[in-house]
This record gives sequence, structure tokens and C-alpha cells, in this order.
Amino acid sequence: MAKTSKVIVAGAGPVGLLTALALAKRDVSVLVLESEPGLTLDLRAGTYHPPSLEMMAPYGITDEMHKTAIKVPRWQIRDKREGVIVEWDLSVLKDVTAYPYRLHLEQHRLTPIIRAKLAQFPNAEVRFSHEVTDFSQSADSVKVTARTADGLERLEAQWLVGADGGRSTVRKSMAVGFEGYTWPERFLVASTGYDYEPHGYTLNAYVADPEHWNAMFKMPGDGPPGLWRVLFPVKPEEDEEAALSDENVERLMQSFQPKAGTYPIRYKSMYRVHQRVASNFRAGRALLVGDAAHLNNPIGAFGLNGGLHDAVNLADKLARVCHGEGDTGLLDLYVRQRRTVNLEYVQEYSVRNLKRLIAKTDAERRQNFDELREVASTPEGRRSFLMVSSMIASVQRANAIT
Ligand SMILES: Cc1cc2nc3c(=O)[nH]c(=O)nc-3n(C[C@H](O)[C@H](O)[C@H](O)COP(=O)(O)OP(=O)(O)OC[C@H]3O[C@@H](n4cnc5c(N)ncnc54)[C@H](O)[C@@H]3O)c2cc1C
Repeated sequence: MAKTSKVIVAGAGPVGLLTALALAKRDVSVLVLESEPGLTLDLRAGTYHPPSLEMMAPYGITDEMHKTAIKVPRWQIRDKREGVIVEWDLSVLKDVTAYPYRLHLEQHRLTPIIRAKLAQFPNAEVRFSHEVTDFSQSADSVKVTARTADGLERLEAQWLVGADGGRSTVRKSMAVGFEGYTWPERFLVASTGYDYEPHGYTLNAYVADPEHWNAMFKMPGDGPPGLWRVLFPVKPEEDEEAALSDENVERLMQSFQPKAGTYPIRYKSMYRVHQRVASNFRAGRALLVGDAAHLNNPIGAFGLNGGLHDAVNLADKLARVCHGEGDTGLLDLYVRQRRTVNLEYVQEYSVRNLKRLIAKTDAERRQNFDELREVASTPEGRRSFLMVSSMIASVQRANAIT
């Protein structure tokens, strides 16, 4: 590949890889720089909504995912004491999407699929162990500095896409703000082969409780019977090592669902959760996508999905600009569309979803449950709730912004 590509993408996470693939397919030469020596393997997102599956289908990714992923057509909102409050059925959306379900597949199983598709394009290259440290720009190019094992490397392109995650170096170099806040509680996630379905749980369920709320997701793991991920809150004052100890994880698992014998735990990890949106997704020739542009709590699974929607939206417009259409507002339209829906939908509903789970007083909880039951009591209510929670409404809203 030539030393200069049209576009450099910082970060080979799912969003950076999809951006690169969508550009390469549109005949734009693209270079992905990834700081790690390979694709990351840690426990992260794993729920895909219908629009994401539609957007990835033209690249053959969605079909590939279906070979190992788990379809989740129904999911529950529950209360720890009362049990099921509402069970949603996505099949009511079958007239608006070819994928009327949530699809569960670990994020670290998605990235190799996208990477393999990208490898089929001679105009695309991924360089691992290349950490973007800085960039500068002129009227017609960007100069990117990357730290490699052999020292600093300087690369040039016409455009830079920052897909380098929540701590984005590109965003910091763009000097745009990242307003928002961090939740005081951290989230602990444990994966077990124990099966919760016989206890009445759908393959994705959210369990409200003032102290011990949970979220759960069945993931494919290494294949059938799969693994259940259970999410727990960890109080701000709790020590991380103590929270992740075998004894504490066992205590949490038993308090969630008591059972004879200890829980087999395959993975456990803990992370901080933020609600933040970059003040702009663009500074001249540099653009932000995915976690580099916005962060949210995982209740509702909007983070990665929103990032995938950014990738496809931006790549479509950037390719047109690269092919000479002239940037007559196309890239600013990307920012308006994706930043607006991040604020109006992703931030708004992810916060609402989490607050519903953690509501402290009986009166609040009662009001939440009454509202949910009311919405679920009519076909129109169910449909409108599912249009938002499946992110179809947010994509429609973005497309309507001109
Ligand atoms: C610990 C953790 C747990 C999560 N759990 C959930 C969950 O349960 N549910 C959910 O919906 N979402 C979850 N998320 C969020 C979800 O994983 C993200 O929304 C998703 O990963 C965003 O994809 P991305 O490609 O934008 O960023 P990332 O996946 O973070 O990818 C960024 C990539 O950029 C690379 N990089 C970073 N800096 C540089 C640099 N300077 N130069 C070059 N490369 C760089 C990184 O190594 C990484 O490969 C979690 C996130 C984290 C961090």
C-alpha cells in the first residue's frame, strides 16, 4: 500500500474496523492504526440491535454473526421482589426490520469477522502496535504520528477518523470537550455456565432493585450451551480487588439466584461507566466515531450499536467527499445527525433505563412499573417502546435531519 492513504483510522475496535471496511468497499484507500499488538479480547459489549444488523448485512458480517450468535426475540424488565414486570416481544417489529430480535455475540467475536472482511480489500491495511500519539492538519491533509516498536512513525492522509475508544487521543488532540459525568457505582460482570432459563429468565433481562439490581445476557461463549453474563453494581467505597475476589463473586451470584454448590465462573471483570458526549465530532479533517465520540452506561446496549451507526453514516459521506463531491456540508451533516441522536436517544434512554433499575423509593418503583405496564398494555404502546429500545427510532430520526 502507498505510504499515503486517503483516510487513517485510529483504533481497530469494532467501530474503527467497520468504518475502514465501509470506506474500502467504496474504493477509498484506508489505513487502520491500532496500539495493541492484536485485536482486543476483553469482555465488553455483546448485544446487537436490528439497525446494526441491517447496516452490517451488505458486508456479509450479519450472516457470519448468525452462525454462532444467539437470537433474543423476547426480553424482560423484572423486579427482584415482584418478578416479571413486562416481557417484550420484538416480533411485533417484523414489518419494519428483517431482524426482529436482539442478537447476542461477544464483541471480541465480532471484530475478527470484520477484520477478515477487511482483509479482502487490497486498498485497506491494518497496522498493529501503532499507537497514535498526535496529529496536525493543514488545508488539505492530516499528519499523524504513531509510536511503534521502532520509534515514532509519521504518516499522512487526507482525513483522520478517531475510533480510538473512550480515552481517545484523537479527541484530545482535537481539543474538543467531553462533557458529562461518571456514575459513582462501578459495574462488575461475571460469566457462568449455569443456566438461568429454567428459572423463567429470558436470554436478556433487567432486574430492578434499590440495592442489588442486575442485568443478564446469555452469550454464545465457545458454543452451546453458552455462558450467562450477570452484571452487578459495586459501591464506590468498595475495593476493586475485594469486589472481584472469588468469595465476593460467589456471594453476589448466590444472592441473585441461590443454588446448591458453588457457581462455575468463567470470567469476571469490573469497569467504570460514563455518560459523556464530545462537544463536536469534527475538527477540520479529523472526525470522531464510537466511544471516542460518546460514552453511556450499558443498560439498553446502545453504546457499541450507536458507534456502528456512526461508522456507516460517516463512511458513506466521507467516501463521497474523497471521490470529489466536495465537502459542501456533508461531514457537518454527519455530526448533526449522529451527535443529535446520541444526545436525544442514547444518552436520554440509557440514563432512563439505569435509573429505572436503581430507583430507591417504593413510590418511584411503583410509578416506573405502572408506567411500563401501561405502555405494554396496548399494541401501539408496545410498538413505540420497542422502536426506541431497538434503536430503529434513533436511526429514523438521524436520517430525517438535513
Ligand atoms: C470494560 C468495558 C466493558 C464494556 N461493557 C459493555 C457492555 O457490557 N455492554 C455494552 O453495551 N457496552 C459495553 N462497553 C462499551 C462497548 O464495549 C463500546 O461501546 C465499544 O467497544 C465501542 O467500540 P469502539 O470501537 O468505539 O471502541 P473500542 O472497542 O474501545 O476500540 C478502540 C480501539 O482503539 C485502540 N486504541 C486506543 N487508543 C489508541 C491510540 N492512541 N492509537 C491507536 N489505537 C488506539 C484500542 O486498543 C481499541 O482497539 C464496555 C466498554 C468497556 C471499556
